[in-house]
Amino acid sequence: MEFSRRKVLIGTGAVAGAGVIGTAGASAILSDGLPKYPDSVLPIDALPSDDPTPGWFHTSRKREPKAPLIGDAHARWAVIGGGFTGLAAARQLALNFPNDTVLLIEGQQVGFGTSGRNAGFLIDVPHDISAPDYIGDQKIARHVLNLNQTGQKILFDLVEKYKIEDAQLRHVGKYQAAVEDEGLHVLDAYRGGLEKLGQHCEIIEGKDLPSHIGTSFYKKALHTPGTMLVQPSALVKGLADNLPENVILYEDTPITAIEYEPKVVLHHASGKITADKLVLANNHFGTHFGFMPGRILPMFTYGSLTRPLTAEEQARIGGKDFWGVIPADPFGTTCRRTHDNRLFIRNSFTFNADGRYKPGATERFRKAHRLSFERRFPSLTDVGFEYTWGGGLGMTRNGNSFFGQLRKNVYGSLGCNGLGTVRGTAMGTLLADWLAGKRHELTDFLLSVDKPNINPPEPFLSMGVNFTLRRGMANAGLEA
Ligand SMILES: Cc1cc2nc3c(=O)[nH]c(=O)nc-3n(C[C@H](O)[C@H](O)[C@H](O)COP(=O)(O)OP(=O)(O)OC[C@H]3O[C@@H](n4cnc5c(N)ncnc54)[C@H](O)[C@@H]3O)c2cc1C
Repeated sequence: MEFSRRKVLIGTGAVAGAGVIGTAGASAILSDGLPKYPDSVLPIDALPSDDPTPGWFHTSRKREPKAPLIGDAHARWAVIGGGFTGLAAARQLALNFPNDTVLLIEGQQVGFGTSGRNAGFLIDVPHDISAPDYIGDQKIARHVLNLNQTGQKILFDLVEKYKIEDAQLRHVGKYQAAVEDEGLHVLDAYRGGLEKLGQHCEIIEGKDLPSHIGTSFYKKALHTPGTMLVQPSALVKGLADNLPENVILYEDTPITAIEYEPKVVLHHASGKITADKLVLANNHFGTHFGFMPGRILPMFTYGSLTRPLTAEEQARIGGKDFWGVIPADPFGTTCRRTHDNRLFIRNSFTFNADGRYKPGATERFRKAHRLSFERRFPSLTDVGFEYTWGGGLGMTRNGNSFFGQLRKNVYGSLGCNGLGTVRGTAMGTLLADWLAGKRHELTDFLLSVDKPNINPPEPFLSMGVNFTLRRGMANAGLEA
């Protein structure tokens, strides 16, 4: 396979821009500043770069990241991506092949990327926004439920086994809440769908909601009891610090170029890794490794975390001391009260086509978060945000992930959309089992579903996505 040379975007938490790194393996630097690789080498043209202010990362346990790889390495297995998916795949490969070494390679620090930036909902129930009852095909919905519950169980058991107490995993369910007519209709329709699926849920009327979630803003909510809430960065940090002994984790080691034939060779800043088999668990960045270009979209969404509320402020709003609300409208606001009495707000989207953060975005969306916060908690206008950040979702247009073989000796679990905590965990584990010859009902399901579908080329892709996002955010009304 031959690859054309493209502009290389690099950096960890740095300002996005064209630049050069990872000259290892390059015989020269060209006059345009790009490393010169033989035609058999694919330069990775966008490397992860997230903003420096992820609240969950900074308010969780400080840990010493594992050292970057210096020089060359060889192993039977390499896994790229130290998020929920990669951590699960590396763990299960190591357990399935106890005599092999598994290299887990993360371009940033574990807990700093999207897996440590999300809203921390480990959701069990399916929610198909394209179906009138939000459940759709019952057979598929049952598989999705099983997949999500499998991910939940794996994470729950690991938290118990390794006593990852700072992950604050609590089985409290979630409220899906609405204030606009459209959102109220969604709750009723979804309740019908969940009942058909045999899933318990409860409607809570607006007048009763303040005693649950400390705000009278919403008109109605649907409570589903199966969701668990976590401090996501603390959870992935804890998972990374409790990997099997035959996993070697390298952090701050972005893979800058790749060769597939005759062997898989991964280039990084100071050397090369040769692997017999590679698992791509790097979400939308997997598309920059030559697979499914433009099919897994780096959609960024944004979160803010307040300072901890004082005892008086907690009393002012009332309600339970730990809860999570997701919106009835996909463009609405997610909201949480955390274990340390902060309030969390998530809303707004941008399409960052290169998968990297855009300077200035967090300042812009902090203002949107402020508005959403004050609508919900008008008695807390003096409570400021300590952190605002963004993170990239690997979204696909049909909502499906990629699971399976990408080419000889290369496998992937990519594009978990907005549910990668549980789905990534389950899929990473199932992929490692499949590679060990173990097959489950869910493996067959994942292998049988359609792949992420094709999108139009640029500039039509960006135009279409940006139009959809702008329209969605404008139509969300008070749900935002
Ligand atoms: C604000 C926000 C809220 C969300 N809320 C929820 C929620 O409540 N519940 C839920 O289930 N999901 C939620 N999500 C989605 C969830 O976070 C993702 O689905 C999940 O993180 C996907 O996990 P992953 O391991 O597949 O990928 P990622 O977490 O994206 O991990 C991939 C890793 O690969 C690394 N990488 C990429 N390229 C390279 C390279 N070249 N070399 C080395 N390393 C590389 C990246 O640094 C990254 O750490 C949310 C996302 C955001 C942004």
